[in-house]
Amino acid sequence: MQILHPFVGSVQQYTEQLADPDRYRPGHCPQCQIKHPLTAHGFYVRTLIDTAFDGVIRVRRYLCEACRRTVSLLPDFVLPYLRSSLTVIALFLVARLFRGQTLEDAARTAPPTMPYQRGQFWIRRFRAQAEALCATLAALIQPAPAPDFVHRALAMLQSTGWIAAHRFLFAGVRGHLLGWPRGLAPDGRRAAFSPATTPA
Ligand SMILES: [Zn+2]
Repeated sequence: MQILHPFVGSVQQYTEQLADPDRYRPGHCPQCQIKHPLTAHGFYVRTLIDTAFDGVIRVRRYLCEACRRTVSLLPDFVLPYLRSSLTVIALFLVARLFRGQTLEDAARTAPPTMPYQRGQFWIRRFRAQAEALCATLAALIQPAPAPDFVHRALAMLQSTGWIAAHRFLFAGVRGHLLGWPRGLAPDGRRAAFSPATTPA
């Protein structure tokens, strides 16, 4: 499974800190809950496009000796399964959906230069996810008055901070900020937001 690695700093600083396996070693297993530090278990690599970075980063993996499952520590500026960083995606969505810039202008707002079609894909997923996001983010922040769910979700994300919201979504509800891509879900489970609980 993937858990988020809270990280403040540049991509460069992130890669430097990866050398030390103890620095962010989980003290217990998030899967079987055994209270035993996990064993460093190599890395996997993935591509990342950030405002000042376009390349490959390593993601550290740990192994639980008790249940033999692995846990990888995804830096929280990265969205699972998406190549562009959270910052790049947020800049684009805010420019297009919040400020009403054209697709081309919004693509230029979110460096590095990219085809705007990539942004259209994020917009589709964000729109599909907006209502559920508003409901979930209400646990973090008062819902903002807005004409629709898309604007409300954006206003809430801008207030909480996108990375703080992402951390919450991922840790608390295992939700993806843009919705899990078709066929992919955390831990092989179908991703869903729980409906408001009604007393049994
Ligand atoms: Zn375990």
